[in-house]
Amino acid sequence: MVCTGCAKAPLITIRMRIGGRDVMFRRCSKCESNIWEGEEGVLTLDRVLDMARAAR
Ligand SMILES: [Zn+2]
Repeated sequence: MVCTGCAKAPLITIRMRIGGRDVMFRRCSKCESNIWEGEEGVLTLDRVLDMARAAR
């Protein structure tokens, strides 16, 4: 999987659990773009924050 921003650098993937769901956080080491991915696909940052909020 390669960065969608610069299409060059490999992404660093970090698995997290947010709001009881598995979420992947991908980060490009080159252009610093961030991608959140859930079971249903790419998540917006707003969506991720919503999930984190709903967990409390
Ligand atoms: Zn990039």
